[in-house]
Amino acid sequence: MVSSPSFTAMRRRNCQDVVRLVRQQPGISRAELAKEAQLAKATVSAIVDDLLQNAVLREAGAKASSGGRPAVGLSFNPSCGYVIGICLDDTEIAASVLDLDGRVITELRAQVDKDWTGVDVGSFLTGNLDAALTKLRSSRASVLGIGAAVPGPVGLNADGTTEELIGECRTAIQFLRQQLACPLFIDSNTNMAAVAEMTENHLSKLDLVLVARVGHKIRSALIAGGDILGGSGGRGGELGHIRLPHCKLACSCGAVGCINTVSSLDAMIVLCNGAGLKVNTLDDLVSMCKSGNQTARQIVKEAGEALGYGLAMSINLLAPHVVLVSGPAIAAEEFFLGPIRETVSQLALADNFNKCRIIVGSTVHKPESYGAGLLALKKTTAFPT
Ligand SMILES: [Zn+2]
Repeated sequence: MVSSPSFTAMRRRNCQDVVRLVRQQPGISRAELAKEAQLAKATVSAIVDDLLQNAVLREAGAKASSGGRPAVGLSFNPSCGYVIGICLDDTEIAASVLDLDGRVITELRAQVDKDWTGVDVGSFLTGNLDAALTKLRSSRASVLGIGAAVPGPVGLNADGTTEELIGECRTAIQFLRQQLACPLFIDSNTNMAAVAEMTENHLSKLDLVLVARVGHKIRSALIAGGDILGGSGGRGGELGHIRLPHCKLACSCGAVGCINTVSSLDAMIVLCNGAGLKVNTLDDLVSMCKSGNQTARQIVKEAGEALGYGLAMSINLLAPHVVLVSGPAIAAEEFFLGPIRETVSQLALADNFNKCRIIVGSTVHKPESYGAGLLALKKTTAFPT
């Protein structure tokens, strides 16, 4: 017998309700589930049998009984499926495999040439993911969703879908869509990393959080109610293009004096080289600061002050509960973070500043791919049935 679409949808909804209740109340019995879900006992039993067969649920042992046959408690099996977060960056490709409780089961990172191709990266990712899934005694069929973090910003269409990507990112995403055949969600690497920072730093979903990420360039993400506020067309977050009052340095956007020209990692390295220092990497810069090089320290200090200016303006405008500074540049520690705090305290409106916590992000996992996995988990409602 072929089920009608409406019956299938109803059964799917009932199935999701049952799984949600078991996750909320581990050890719940079939009878308790029927009562809570307001479904017939026979309906619940049939759904539970299917979910047990597909290893979505497990029997958690007999519950205490006041007589008659003891009821069997049920628990959710977070390893019944996986979501994958990937990060496509200029120089590094990363992937995180998460179970359905959001735990990172395995991570993969690889340095790549700047001129990587989508097919090469797609093949590399699927090959390594297949190997990881085999180790987990699983397969591509257990992958329920993919989150993809790409260099931002990522534009949104009027209906909320993502604008078509261009270039090799687009080829890589198409390749993964074809190979893995599951829903794939795209957002900027800054937004994905912000989702990871929210989780790893245990920030309240009730808070308005501004995440400033300092990498090659500076971008920001605004999170309210646990959701990213992308703004019109998803193009919010350009903290790095706020213009400084007295700066004349040319920015890649065509303007002069953007914060990116002073505070981004690329800018700090360029400014150091312009001052005669041999600095190629962030590690070089941090070493010079730590060994007492006054020129390097001054460049990093001015970088912190310029970012502090942008954050102070943002705090005045938005009154966030938390400003979280993250990204590779936080490795410069107090040489960079001290001037940020100092400038914000001087320039932000006292009331707004006093109610705002300024914290430094820390993630054990690769934040872009971990956040992409978390987003995929949030948006995925399927179970392996
Ligand atoms: Zn600019």
